[in-house]
Order: sequence, then C-alpha cells, then structure tokens
Amino acid sequence: MDITIMGSAAAEAVPSLWCNCECCKTAIKNGGKDIRCRTAYLIDDDTCVDCGPDIFTQSVRYGMKWEKLDRLLITHPHSDHCDAIEMSWRRKGFANFVRPLEMVGSPKVKDMIKNVLIGNEEMNGNLFEETLHIHFVEAQPGAPIQSGDMEILPLRANHGAWKEAACLNYIIRRGNHALLIANDTGFWSEETWQIAAGANVELAIIDCTCALAYPDSVDGHMGANIAVKFRDRLLQDKVLAPNGQAIVNHFSHNGNSIHELLEAFFVPKGIQVGYDGMRIQL
Ligand SMILES: [Zn+2]
Ligand SMILES: [Zn+2]
Ligand SMILES: [Zn+2]
Repeated sequence: MDITIMGSAAAEAVPSLWCNCECCKTAIKNGGKDIRCRTAYLIDDDTCVDCGPDIFTQSVRYGMKWEKLDRLLITHPHSDHCDAIEMSWRRKGFANFVRPLEMVGSPKVKDMIKNVLIGNEEMNGNLFEETLHIHFVEAQPGAPIQSGDMEILPLRANHGAWKEAACLNYIIRRGNHALLIANDTGFWSEETWQIAAGANVELAIIDCTCALAYPDSVDGHMGANIAVKFRDRLLQDKVLAPNGQAIVNHFSHNGNSIHELLEAFFVPKGIQVGYDGMRIQL
C-alpha cells in the first residue's frame, strides 16, 4: 500500500484562518512542514480517507486521479473531514463522466450531507445514488466491510458529542498489508481496545491535536503524552505489530504544531511526526 498524508491539521488548518497567535506567525515564517491542510489521506490510487475543504488543493498537489477513485472513507461528520458542498460538485452540470463512488461512513455522515444539501433545488430526487453517484455504505463499529479487495474494520472513536457511534477510526487491510487511521479520537474505550486487539497493523496514524500545549488531553483529542500512551497500548494489545511504524497527525495551532518542536518530543520515543505530503509504503 502506498499512503500519502494529504493533510495534517485540525479543523481550522495551520496557520489557522483568522488567527494571529505565535504558533501561526511562526508557521508562516517557517513555511514547509509547518503549513498544514485539513487532514486527509490517499491510499494507492483508488481510496481517499476524508474529504474536507482542502480537497481541491490536495487533489492537485498529490496527483489524485478522479477516474481511478473507487471509494471514500469518512471518519466522521465534522466539516474538516467531510465537506458536503465539495461533494455537491459531483452533480450534473458541474462534473462530467463522473465515476461512481462508494462512500463508507457512519449514518451520521449521511445525515450531515443530506442536511447541508437538501433544500438546494438541484438536489431533489435520490440524492446519493442519482444526483451524486454515490453508493453509501453505513459503517458500524466492529462490523467489517468488504469494499473491492479492501477490508475495512470501523472502530468507535472517543470524539464528538453524539451518543451514537458517529465518529469512527478505521483498520484498513489490503493483501498482506494493514494500517490504522486513528484520528479524530481521544484514548479509546475498553470496548474499542477489545475489538482492535490483535489486528497486527504495520502502520498506526494517531491523533495528536492537543500536542505540546495540552499534553495530557485524553478525551475528544489527544495531547502528546497521551498519544505516546496510546502507541504503547497499541503495541501491548498487538494492534500495532512489534516492528510497526507510529505516526502522530491532525495538529492544531492551539496545541503548538511547529514541526521541529514536535519532532524533538516524538522522535526519541520512536514516533514519527506527520506532515503534508508524507508518503509511507507498506
Ligand atoms: Zn478533525
Ligand atoms: Zn493560531
Ligand atoms: Zn472532529
């Protein structure tokens, strides 16, 4: 599997829109790895994970080919991970020769897209199948989904205010290779740890939104200390293979997202720091 981190920021990006904090000013001055789009991933040519407001820029920058894209996995209904308006350009009159897409997400993702788009007069009829050419596959924690040659195991994230399992992390398996995408989430519940145990993935991407400024943040999003504990538990429960790679990702300027500082903290602990354009081959 060929994985590209197409975005490494939380909702408001880095430097954050409208913000004048020290972290954002430093990010502008530094450029490079300190400029972070909203979090999304490309897997091989055919699978995208999350589709937020930066998807146009990301698609051009990382050579996404729309004619090859078979599926879109959505982690949760927050707009930095699924921008319904961007999905709406799949409709007639905007995109031509649109390739049908399988979309995997919680039922709340489907509701959110409907809530945003219904009411627009061009969105009548069967919104997903007919208007957007999307086959929506509802994901539930612990229930594996087969999509082409990809096996997807949704896990309940510790994130968001919904009572239902609206926010998901995914274990994605193709052939002999597997990875875990674990943003957005705080430290998992015991139920989630039990479902994930023994997955033996080669790569784990771990939420680190609160990073260095709030290192002990444990619910909703993780800080740096908790992200290390999360990696340790992944190894202990054999979710992550003993020689597997761990990468922290999804950073907020509020957590202090300066790459050099993050590397100084994480690299000695055997954890890599995600950045826009990072590529991992499994
Ligand atoms: Zn997010
Ligand atoms: Zn800022
Ligand atoms: Zn979120």
